Amino acid sequence: MSENGLINNQILSEIISEVVCKYMVEGESVLEQEYSIPVEVSRRHVHLTRAALDTLYGQNYQLTKVRDISQPGEFASEEKVIVISPKMKIIEGVRIVGPLRDYTQVELALTDAFLLGLSALPTRLSGDVTGSQPITLVGPKGSLTLTEGAIRAARHLHMTPQDAEKYKVKNGDRVKVETEGENGTIFKDVIVRVSDKSKLAFHIDTDEANAANIKGSVFSKILY
Ligand SMILES: [Zn+2]
Repeated sequence: MSENGLINNQILSEIISEVVCKYMVEGESVLEQEYSIPVEVSRRHVHLTRAALDTLYGQNYQLTKVRDISQPGEFASEEKVIVISPKMKIIEGVRIVGPLRDYTQVELALTDAFLLGLSALPTRLSGDVTGSQPITLVGPKGSLTLTEGAIRAARHLHMTPQDAEKYKVKNGDRVKVETEGENGTIFKDVIVRVSDKSKLAFHIDTDEANAANIKGSVFSKILY
């Protein structure tokens, strides 16, 4: 204080720079801790090869897009199939996700596996169906019995190389991801998938979403 009771200019500027420094340090750590990755929930669905769609829906059948979904180029189609397990348990209305792929695969949550009486649903990244559960698909024009193809999708993070740099991770890393909100949950073993065709998203199945109380627009963050 100066003699007249006012704050001396020099002291004032020291106080301001101290406060600003403190704020900036806190600001940085707050930024790092932000929930910035959208959480997206995958319902049970199938991916089909050209040959599989031919069998189920007829030669050269073209899927009808209902809406675009998360990752660029992928879409939910109007067409659905019936899934039948070796125990003759059925789930109807399982949506086909396009475009066609070079493998046929059924992605289920564990609750679906219980409904179907599948004993051991392996957790896999999409496309890795070797040794997975047998399953039958039925469409309006025919059926297809797969000796393997039913999986539980491994929870994963889609991101671009730029995102990977920002979040300091690389393709194939396994990280922990925390969801925001009431009943926020920490998911371990989240596999990072980096591609320049990706859009930033944390993908979980319906069981995982229910456990973490995911409804509507929810964000997540990587724990380091
Ligand atoms: Zn995904």
